[in-house]
Amino acid sequence: MKYLKKVISSLIDLLMPGRCYMCGQIIEGKSALCPECYGKITFLSDQCCPICGKPYIFPSEKDLICQNCLREKPKLKRLRAVFSYDAYSRELILPFKHTDRTDMAPFFSQLMIQIGQELIEHCDIIIPVPLHRRRLLKRKYNQATLLASKIASTCQKKMLPHTLLRTVNTKPQGHDNRLQRKNNVKNAFLVKKKNDVEGKKVLLIDDVYTTGATLNACAEALYAAGAKRVEGLTLARVCHFT
Ligand SMILES: [Zn+2]
Ligand SMILES: [Zn+2]
Repeated sequence: MKYLKKVISSLIDLLMPGRCYMCGQIIEGKSALCPECYGKITFLSDQCCPICGKPYIFPSEKDLICQNCLREKPKLKRLRAVFSYDAYSRELILPFKHTDRTDMAPFFSQLMIQIGQELIEHCDIIIPVPLHRRRLLKRKYNQATLLASKIASTCQKKMLPHTLLRTVNTKPQGHDNRLQRKNNVKNAFLVKKKNDVEGKKVLLIDDVYTTGATLNACAEALYAAGAKRVEGLTLARVCHFT
């Protein structure tokens, strides 16, 4: 039976070869990116600010807290991301976010599990950054929930998709600066069931961390509801914001 399954699966692979998620060219095996596209993505390492995960420019900065975190201590105790958000990774993420490419979730969540292993191990519950219900109706799915649910099931953690609510339908934050983003999401989140988070270590999941305004606003709401510790794990992270 096992053998038969293997044969069928390799036959399917042969008939429906995989395509690179970025450039669309046919690739062998089960990989999601062709070697050229893989090479274009800037994967992040642990050479980063111990709080917000901003990559160091010089190796001598090791263990130093970055200027942003020194200026204003983030609510989020720690953030880690898989890769830098730039023109290339944007191309990779946009179809997942906007054009129903939900089939990309297993690949993305696998990458997040690798970089975020320690954060996942230490958390009690996983919570995705919510969309406002009106936006959810329009988009049909929340990409953060897809990632969170895959991570939770693989790592046998509890995922709570309805605990944190987005009560204000904030406008898209495309060109806003740091302060505008912060004001935009201020008080936009609410914890529906305080019991779910009281005394718990929470891991927030999102697709992209830009200035951290959204994740920090979520963390603030979770702390107000009694969470013990809030950390974040995202697929991508904007690294050039000062
Ligand atoms: Zn490619
Ligand atoms: Zn920092």
